[in-house]
Parts: sequence; structure tokens; C-alpha cells
Amino acid sequence: MQRKNFIHRKLILATLSALIGVFVMIYSPGLEAQSAEAPIGIVIHGGAGTILKKNMSPEKENAYRDKLSEALMVGYEILKNGGSSLDAVEKTIRVMEDSPLFNAGKGAVFTNAGTNELDASIMDGKTLNAGAVAGVKHVKNPISLARLVMEKSKHVMLVGDGAEEFGKQNGTKLVDPKYFFTKRRWQQLQKLKAREQENSNSELEPPVQLDHDGDDHKFGTVGVAALDKNGNLAAGTSTGGMTNKRWGRVGDSPVIGAGTYANNKTCAVSATGHGEYFIRGAIAHDISAMMAYGGASLQEAAHHVIMEKLTEMGGTGGVIAIDKAGNIAMPFNTSGMYRGFIDKNGKPVIKIYQE
Ligand code: ASP
Repeated sequence: MQRKNFIHRKLILATLSALIGVFVMIYSPGLEAQSAEAPIGIVIHGGAGTILKKNMSPEKENAYRDKLSEALMVGYEILKNGGSSLDAVEKTIRVMEDSPLFNAGKGAVFTNAGTNELDASIMDGKTLNAGAVAGVKHVKNPISLARLVMEKSKHVMLVGDGAEEFGKQNGTKLVDPKYFFTKRRWQQLQKLKAREQENSNSELEPPVQLDHDGDDHKFGTVGVAALDKNGNLAAGTSTGGMTNKRWGRVGDSPVIGAGTYANNKTCAVSATGHGEYFIRGAIAHDISAMMAYGGASLQEAAHHVIMEKLTEMGGTGGVIAIDKAGNIAMPFNTSGMYRGFIDKNGKPVIKIYQE
């Protein structure tokens, strides 16, 4: 009897809670929305190359970790507050451009002529609009000028003096080239030039150095890819290019489809590495194309294009990428790549070496 009563009570309780459940589902659409909340995400790089733990002091490593985390959090806050992926990409890159640690903006490498020539690009995955600048010498934040080109001109890429003139007309403050002087970069140029002198009688081409080549040239280009809560993807890349470059050399970073690409239907990608290979391999676009035409996942596409295609071409470097579901990929074929993302708990995760 007692057992019967117990079962009876349980049945009534179960029916009541089921009814309450149905009531809550019908009258609280917020609950539904919460569980199916639109994903947001951000992934970042600070250059790939010969980055070995044995050559890294704890102080240096911490400086990079801290700056990458700070930059990531700037972008993540924008996304968390409902901001656009384009804003997140631009503002995150600006933090790295303003730091002497990276080969972009303030920390840009020197050309053979002892100048700094900066390249940057940005792409909007929703509209497939894009903007880029190359070879600018007086622009503190080239990524913002690239965005201006995208939003305020009918063009995609502007170079040199013309790009700066366009910037001036649209409110970009130009800086004295002295702003870009850093002792470390200057010494890198002198070292390469000394080597050039030694080889002057040889048939060899004068050495140019990618920031990620060699022993003390490991810190490169910066890039960001982001997904906002409206499902819009964006990517951007900014660089000083390669030490001792000449003849107006431009790498992949400002080339849409090579160093930067974004398409809401597939993914957003930013690359770093030996630019000539990334241009010839149309690396960033290839990842998107494998997803669009071949049905590959982001992981499969990014892995294939870097670890097989780029590697077989003889190119070195890596990409960071995010897809419309918020999945990320960060493949590289060098010993290290400064990289990071925000995890599910809203915390930055920074990685440097192969792991
Ligand atoms: N990709 C850049 C360039 O070739 C350099 C780099 O990523 O370090 O200009």
C-alpha cells in the first residue's frame, strides 16, 4: 500500500514537472535562444618561423604571451558585446601594430634603403569586399588604412604615396618615418648587409630575409580572423614584409586570396610565411575553395593546403583560420608560430611551439 502511494506520488510529480517544462518552453523563448546562442570566435597570429624554446628567454616568451592575450581580449570584448568581426579584426591588429614586438606597424623591419614599407589587408566575408595597402611609409596603423580603402574608395588596393594621399584625404594621421625606428630591426638590417658585402663577388642574389628566417629573426607578421554573432566572418593581415627587401617588393599580406581571405559561406584566413609562395599558391583562397567546392571541413582544408600543397611547393609558414561555426585551425610547417584563440570559457589560449 505504502509502495503504491509512493509510486502514485512520483507519477504526480513527474506529470507536474513535465507540465512546468512545457510551460517554460512555450513562454520563455529566451531559454531556447540561450542554448542555441550564435557562436563567436577569434584567432590570431604573430608570425611563423624558426621559433625554438631553447632560444627563448622566459621574459621574452612572457612578453609575447602577454601582448597576444591583450590583443585577443580586445577583439573578444568587441565580439562579446555584439560588435562586428571587422571591428574585432581591425582593433586587435592595431594592438599588435602598436607593439615593437611584431613585424607590423611600430616594429616593422627595414628595407635595403633603410626605410620601412608597410603592407596590410582586410576582408569582409559577408560582402566579399576587401581593402589593401602596400609600401606605405608614414602610416601608423596600415590595417585601418586598408579598411578605409575598402569602405571609402571604389578600389581594393592602393600603393605608396597614392595610398597615403588617399589616407590623408580621409582623415588618416601620417607619422614621421622615425616612429618606426627600433634598434633591434636596424641591427638585423646591418647584419644582413654585412653578409651581402661578404658575398658581393659571388653569383648569389643579395640576401633578403623573412622575419621568420634565421636565428634572431623570428617574429613576424600579424593577422586575425574572427566570427561575430551575426555569422559574419572577417580576416586581416599586417606586415613590414622582409628585411633588406628592395625594388618595391610586396609579399602576400596585402594580396587578397594569398595572405588574407574571408567568405561567410566558408571561412576567414590570415597567413604568415614566405610571401612569394603564398601568392603563387593562392593559399588563403585555396582553403576557402576546398570547403566551398570540395565540401572539406576547415581542419581538412587548412591542413591540406599548408602541410601538403605549400610544403610540396617548398614554401614555409602557416595560417590561422575560423569557419562559420566557430571552429578554428592553425596549421604551420615551421618550428613555431605565435598564435592564440579564445576558448569556450572566454579565456585566451596562447601557443608558440609545435604542440
Ligand atoms: N608573409 C610576409 C611577407 O612575405 C612575411 C611574414 O609573414 O613574416 O611579406
